[in-house]
Amino acid sequence: MKCYICRREEAVVRIEGKNYCKDCFLKLYEKRVEKVIKKWKLIENGDRVMVALSGGKDSASMLYFLNKYKKAVDFELEAMFIHLWIPEYSDLALEKSKELTKMLGIKLHIVDIKKGTGKTLIEIARSNRRRAICSICGIVKRYYMNKHPRERGFNKIATGHNMDDILEFFIKNFIDRNFEWNDKLKPIVPSTHPKLLTKIRPLYECSNVENYYYAKFNLLPFIESKCPFSKISKWKNIVECFDTNIPGSKRQFTRTIEELNFSVKEPEYKQCKICGELTTSKNGICSFCKLIHEN
Ligand SMILES: [Zn+2]
Ligand SMILES: [Zn+2]
Repeated sequence: MKCYICRREEAVVRIEGKNYCKDCFLKLYEKRVEKVIKKWKLIENGDRVMVALSGGKDSASMLYFLNKYKKAVDFELEAMFIHLWIPEYSDLALEKSKELTKMLGIKLHIVDIKKGTGKTLIEIARSNRRRAICSICGIVKRYYMNKHPRERGFNKIATGHNMDDILEFFIKNFIDRNFEWNDKLKPIVPSTHPKLLTKIRPLYECSNVENYYYAKFNLLPFIESKCPFSKISKWKNIVECFDTNIPGSKRQFTRTIEELNFSVKEPEYKQCKICGELTTSKNGICSFCKLIHEN
């Protein structure tokens, strides 16, 4: 089958019912990411951007693209990896992150939770049995992704959330009437407090499959196995149904989410009594310190 764009080369990927050759796919992908970055002003001259690497295909693709994007915009780019000590996973994910940043010549910050808290993720989970380990992991990662780059003078943190992640969160939150969370499910969440970094999601309009091919075609090192704690999500199946039935509807849905406004009032922040980071909790102790110190 020939490529839908150039009509010359043999097609190697099929996206939204159309077939593309490698080169046309790569160009299309980059054009798409660039459009989101420009439309929402994710990165501008003088920004200091920290990329959160997980070792997976999404954040690897993002770092590779942003490194290329430095030719167009003058900004600083470094990467961080949070070592959670998940057996047979974290070490390998770190190895891949090291390989990738070495290949691109980008500085890698390694944040070791054992050094920061004295505990591994599993040990934290053991003393917080009421919480699911994935929710604990989320709290720990969000904490360090905000604190570590901010303390080093960065003004933006970039995460590899993709279109499928966004749709899954959105539908789940929407059904739960969690409008507050959906209000922050945007390509950019601007800082509203000096202690809060601006969050950016450059891969907002790229799917799982597209990020996979982008990483593969550019020969990026990434971990293909899933975190041993990740479960099969039924929400993912629901999201997949959109494109199986109507190709392209996932992207259309995502673009609608970008434009939505839930008019949620910004919460009142206090500084955590233990660590000084921000919290909205009544007792003034942030969710990270609750995990670490209250058990
Ligand atoms: Zn082509
Ligand atoms: Zn705290």
